[in-house]
Amino acid sequence: MQHPKIVWLRNDLRLTDHPALHAASSTGQPLIVLYVLDDHAPGKWKMGGASRWWLHHSLKSLRDDLHSLGGKLILRRGDTLKIIPEMAVELKSQGIYWNRGYEPYARRQEEQISKALEQQSIDVSTYNGNLLFEPWEISNKQGSYYKVFTQYWKCCKKMNEASEPLSKPSKIEFYKGKVISEDLKDWNLLPEKPNWAKGFEELWQPGEKHAIKNLDRFMEYAIADYDIKRDFPSEVGTSQLSPHLHFGEISPKMIWKALESMNLSHKSAAAQASIERYLTEIGWRDFSYYLLYHFPKLPDEPFNSRFAEFPWHENAEHLHAWQKGLTGYPIVDAGMRQLWHTGWMHNRVRMIVASFLTKDLLIPWQKGASWFWDTLVDADLANNSASWQWVAGCGADAAPYFRIFNPVLQSIKFDPTGEYIKKWVPELQHIPAKSIHSPWEIPELLLRAYGVELGKTYPYPIVNHAKARIDALEAFKNK
Ligand SMILES: Cc1cc2nc3c(=O)[nH]c(=O)nc-3n(C[C@H](O)[C@H](O)[C@H](O)COP(=O)(O)OP(=O)(O)OC[C@H]3O[C@@H](n4cnc5c(N)ncnc54)[C@H](O)[C@@H]3O)c2cc1C
Repeated sequence: MQHPKIVWLRNDLRLTDHPALHAASSTGQPLIVLYVLDDHAPGKWKMGGASRWWLHHSLKSLRDDLHSLGGKLILRRGDTLKIIPEMAVELKSQGIYWNRGYEPYARRQEEQISKALEQQSIDVSTYNGNLLFEPWEISNKQGSYYKVFTQYWKCCKKMNEASEPLSKPSKIEFYKGKVISEDLKDWNLLPEKPNWAKGFEELWQPGEKHAIKNLDRFMEYAIADYDIKRDFPSEVGTSQLSPHLHFGEISPKMIWKALESMNLSHKSAAAQASIERYLTEIGWRDFSYYLLYHFPKLPDEPFNSRFAEFPWHENAEHLHAWQKGLTGYPIVDAGMRQLWHTGWMHNRVRMIVASFLTKDLLIPWQKGASWFWDTLVDADLANNSASWQWVAGCGADAAPYFRIFNPVLQSIKFDPTGEYIKKWVPELQHIPAKSIHSPWEIPELLLRAYGVELGKTYPYPIVNHAKARIDALEAFKNK
């Protein structure tokens, strides 16, 4: 029997445009496709509860896809640094293939595994499967990295072409020898009782097939209005591809090329602007990975060192109210409850709740990032860290600290009918649209008629925004 090649999977749970799988299968030698659940290597960034739910379903879907090609997904749990070299030696593997990761722990792990395999004279082949451009491909005239997105993206666009996505292998020669695999069920990735993921089940279908279907649907029905609708949380105006992209069920190159293949000459100027805008968002994803690569402390430390001594307040009660969607600011509470119920939150509302936490409550952005890490199905170390720092004002190319979102004005502007609030904060559903954004301003008698009693059925605001804004600006001045 021929000795196998091993394809090691991480956040690249797909068969299409998978450079590592493509290269390994092109050799015609038998393959083992391996996923390792390693909760040790990422340290405090081990996968959170919502991500585990997604992972379970994504692995199940990939397992079925491999099965339909006559193969198997090998599952192991433990220390990757032990599992891969041991398996490679035991099976006299002819080479290990993987798509590169960019998180600090992923890079460390890859380096150590490469070294261990080198000592055994086992070849390692690595690829770009997760980004349009890898972080070291883009640099400014001084040979350093860009800190401003527009300049970065201009440089990417000048590179012109992300390479063509690869097709799904039509045939894979799988290794026929005995390889032990664990049972996905035994990993207990799904919640036990109570099942907090019921809302996830209503909204999401993880897996490559659904990722592609969602992209097709978005391109057919929504992309033309993306630029107009993307900021309105009651609309399904965005692609909702973020968890699919995070877990690599679809690659950014597949999206780039799908957009490129649209016949733009038939589209209105507004639709063309929308398509460009959507591509730019995929660019922001690459930029976050770029920043994380060049500034690996991004998840923990402010990119702008002026913020190192910022006088944050650690207020456990306020943090708890924010987490549970009980701040008394309807748009903030709606967002936090959408997150809890579905594992996802609309981008505009992510910005509002993050601004509220870091500026109205002066709670460190790391606390917010950590809550998101556990509750988002798309929790992504690069995007989450870069976005939190962006809102907090300490990130690269960040919103200036003194630009403090007014949660009421944001709510009036982006949820004018109150539809989003009514969906996620049903206790306010009888309040008319014009007053729903600030229920504390409604006379008590009228509030009663709407079935609301502040302090009982819905909280009073935990802070006064006007005062909180002044405090935040003061803290910023004195930092
Ligand atoms: C505080 C905060 C935390 C965030 N945490 C995450 C996170 O953990 N994981 C995550 O994927 N996104 C995160 N984002 C970015 C953004 O909110 C989500 O990517 C987006 O809401 C996902 O919905 P969508 O797929 O419908 O986006 P669309 O608008 O359809 O965008 C398409 C894709 O572009 C990428 N994208 C869009 N906006 C951004 C952005 N600002 N930064 C980086 N990539 C972007 C995503 O991969 C997204 O799927 C965060 C934003 C904020 C303000």
